[in-house]
Amino acid sequence: MAAQILDGKKIALQIREEVAVQVQKFYEIKRVQPKLVAILVGDDPASAVYVRNKELACKKAGIAGEVIRLPHQTTQIELLAKICELNDEDTCHGILVQLPLPAHIDTRTVLDAVAPEKDVDCFSPVNVGLMSQGRPRFLPCTPHGVQQLLGRCGIDVQGKHVVVIGRSDIVGKPTAMILALPTGPFGKSNANATVTICHSQTQDLASVTRNADIVIAAIGKARFVTAEMIKPGACVIDVGMNQTPEGLCGDVDFDRVSQVASAITPVPGGVGPLTIAMLLRNTLIAAETQTN
Ligand code: NAP
Repeated sequence: MAAQILDGKKIALQIREEVAVQVQKFYEIKRVQPKLVAILVGDDPASAVYVRNKELACKKAGIAGEVIRLPHQTTQIELLAKICELNDEDTCHGILVQLPLPAHIDTRTVLDAVAPEKDVDCFSPVNVGLMSQGRPRFLPCTPHGVQQLLGRCGIDVQGKHVVVIGRSDIVGKPTAMILALPTGPFGKSNANATVTICHSQTQDLASVTRNADIVIAAIGKARFVTAEMIKPGACVIDVGMNQTPEGLCGDVDFDRVSQVASAITPVPGGVGPLTIAMLLRNTLIAAETQTN
């Protein structure tokens, strides 16, 4: 049996079009254009591409996108001063600090400096706390993208056993949290799952994942999840993005797992495109709340 391929590109496009319509309506009522400012420190080529893609996506949605490019040798104090300036700037609604930062800068200190109401990545402890209490200001982009992808593909997580492999602050932990929340935070969305979180110290990982109705892989290891780890008919969401000599690939052995699963995301073209779509949505929410 070949799995249904979950087309993240198509769903991301749908969401981006919805956001563009809402941005236009918001502008007509408030005469305010939502604005996202991305800060890029250093010259990491992958980060430069990510930031450029976000800038283009903003433009297509009618959101003003600005990139502040700072040299590698920027000090932590200089970066914090720039963030404070943006926190106080009324025309800037969302601030995004592109990661990774150079090693001489403490990432946590910098992320904590972003005003919570402009923290469109949802990294601030205030926003993570609100999310965990089921009253989010924003939802983190990649986990929210996973939730939207599942919901819009007709895969209901309610009451299902979801196994998340990975417990990072960016992907694993918040994905587990939002799927386990009792109600969908933004209208009717996918929630109420029974969630297990696995990590590098989990014993006999395959015996846990084989019990899952839905496996979400956020590990950062190419083709780590094999067909033997998947219950026949389960759904598999691959968040991984790994550069290999053969090109970009996910954390899941797509060719073999797609013979066992009922539905699977490809890499590229699965979760990745959803992340930017949800960032645009958060920027609109930020503009709406700061304008009201
Ligand atoms: P991360 O911070 O490195 O976290 C990886 C997680 O995987 C950790 O919790 C780690 O466990 C766990 N892990 C590592 N080896 C394992 C093993 N052998 N068995 C079980 N668990 C294991 O990575 P991340 O930021 O969450 O990113 C994960 C992947 O998603 C990466 O490929 C990244 O590029 C990709 N990503 C994609 C998007 C997107 O838009 N599609 C966005 C963000 C990230 P410990 O906690 O025990 O170390």
